[in-house]
Amino acid sequence: MPRLLRPARVLLLGPPGSGKGTQTERLLKHFEIPGISSGDILRRHIKDGTEIGQLASSIINKGKLLPDDLMTKVVASELRRRRWLSPSTSWLLDGFPRTHAQAEMLDSQELEPAKAGMNLVVELQVSEDAMLDRIANRLVHVPSGRVYNLTYNPPKVPGRDDITGEPLSRRPDDDPAVFRKRLKEYRASTEPLVEYYKKSGDVLWSVAGETSDVIFAQLEREVVRRFGERGDESSERDSEAAGAAD
Ligand code: ATP
Ligand code: MG
Repeated sequence: MPRLLRPARVLLLGPPGSGKGTQTERLLKHFEIPGISSGDILRRHIKDGTEIGQLASSIINKGKLLPDDLMTKVVASELRRRRWLSPSTSWLLDGFPRTHAQAEMLDSQELEPAKAGMNLVVELQVSEDAMLDRIANRLVHVPSGRVYNLTYNPPKVPGRDDITGEPLSRRPDDDPAVFRKRLKEYRASTEPLVEYYKKSGDVLWSVAGETSDVIFAQLEREVVRRFGERGDESSERDSEAAGAAD
């Protein structure tokens, strides 16, 4: 039973280290909105040594972007595999689309035909200092994409994933020099996406904050405001949905 009254199809946009992965985890926990992260998919390909992984690792380590058509194919096949191309499913995308061309391909080839257009695009705004601090203190569990921060959210056992106990690692692209390139790439390729989504109805919503807690509190409110939460009488529009809750 989903927690939201209306399906939420969400894109998280934000520079490297702005906390997209952390907000994704929280939205999953709080509202049961499942997400996919293009970066996590690529890191799993690298770990598994696939053909895509081999190409990805050299590009990622330079702070550059993978080709648009390849990325769109990879994510679209994941959307199909999970049966998310439907108007009734809630989901979240982190890291894709990341360019204007990717957004157009995703919309025209996948989402529009399925009547499953994005209905919330969240732009995370965080200071450069906070981003630098995050990437310097970040550890990831590659198989799941879970993110830890040595300062704010350390693993229970140092160097180990809380759930599986498997080893955590640092991302090779979380190095200050590569970070600068990623930030530059972001500004050139992804910022124009904000303009693209400004033109597609009332989907774009920007939020600023220096910590993930501050941002999540606002995001939570916005999600409830837009999609309604089960059990929250004030936002329950149709009695059918309310009656079905147990
Ligand atoms: P962070 O995870 O710190 O918020 P990020 O968004 O830059 O930062 P990921 O989303 O994990 O990091 O992506 C890591 C790398 O994977 C990117 O720098 C890029 O090389 C590649 N990549 C991920 N998504 C895409 C995409 N949609 N298009 C092209 N390349 C991508
Ligand atoms: Mg990420």
